[in-house]
Amino acid sequence: MTTHQIVLIPGDGIGPEVAEATTRVLEAAGAPLAWAEHHAGVAALERHGEVLPEATLDAVRDRGIALKGPCTTPVGKGFTSVNVQLRKRLDLYAAVRPVRNLPGITTRYEGVDLVVIRENTEGLYSGIENEVTKGVVTSLKVATETASQRIARWAFQYARDRGRQKVTVMHKANIMKLTDGMFIRCARQIHDDEGFSDIEYEEVIIDAGCMKLVQDPTQFDVLLLENLYGDVLSDLCAGFVGGLGVIPGANIGNDYAVFEAVHGSAPDIAGKGLANPLALLMSAVMMLNHIADTRGDESCRTSAGRIREAYNRALSDGKKTRDLGGNLGTEDFASAVIERIAG
Ligand code: NAD
Repeated sequence: MTTHQIVLIPGDGIGPEVAEATTRVLEAAGAPLAWAEHHAGVAALERHGEVLPEATLDAVRDRGIALKGPCTTPVGKGFTSVNVQLRKRLDLYAAVRPVRNLPGITTRYEGVDLVVIRENTEGLYSGIENEVTKGVVTSLKVATETASQRIARWAFQYARDRGRQKVTVMHKANIMKLTDGMFIRCARQIHDDEGFSDIEYEEVIIDAGCMKLVQDPTQFDVLLLENLYGDVLSDLCAGFVGGLGVIPGANIGNDYAVFEAVHGSAPDIAGKGLANPLALLMSAVMMLNHIADTRGDESCRTSAGRIREAYNRALSDGKKTRDLGGNLGTEDFASAVIERIAG
């Protein structure tokens, strides 16, 4: 049996807690993984004097895949986001965030099953900001044809591979005619010229799109968004199905993939053993399926299925952390999942 070498980046805040709980469940499920721990974020700053050590990037380049906890970014000052840097340096251009109702978690909505696909490398996350003169600042939104085309191509291919019916691009091209205008023009062109007529294609202006989403999220299937809109809508969509504790994610490029939950380092609950590890655990399930898809190791798909079944059963049995209305801590929830992993 092959053991897959995976980089583990515990991250900051609740990161180490949810990473510990997740690796415990993976081990109990017999997932054929070996961890190489590396650091990023404040944890790396404290240990190595820099937030994104070259050794961490090299480790991901060597092994190809990482499981990552959240990294803290100071608000309105300080270093630029480690998460944004990591995605750019490794060219992880597609962020994929599945949003589905889960058993035992009652929300205002039923039947939600959509996927947010976010362009991960440009837009307003270029980090190019200037003070033109005192009291006047600018932020540069960058869009390139190459990146707009490749994320559109990736989204249509993803939709086809997963048997999904429709891709909706949300945009503000009525105002940002050049940048968002290019994003939708590229999406439309890839759809029409590269043979994706089996996938329905739709464009919606994002403000109206937000209204439609909260009115009835079940009318959407795959959402394709530039960087900032994808960031914002990921959290919005998390609210449909129980919050940030249940939304996994993957950052995928042509060469590497980094799996991480959508949530951040949650400083308000860090160190208290309260965080929900499910979003990172679900990200790990995505990772196992990705290994099965890209390396042909079906034992990873088996482990992924066992873990998914176990957490679904735990939730159905009312085993939940506090963010979901339950009373379990991080480790107790992990133990509840482990108890339900079929032998
Ligand atoms: P956050 O996602 O950390 O927290 C938002 C709210 O959700 C908080 O009330 C938090 O307690 C709750 N929450 C989040 N994850 C949870 C979990 N697993 N279980 C239970 N409750 C959970 O967002 P924020 O407060 O806006 O950001 C905090 C820090 O995280 C910032 O420094 C931000 O830059 C960083 N961040 C990092 C990432 C990443 O590493 N990918 C993503 C988002 C935010």
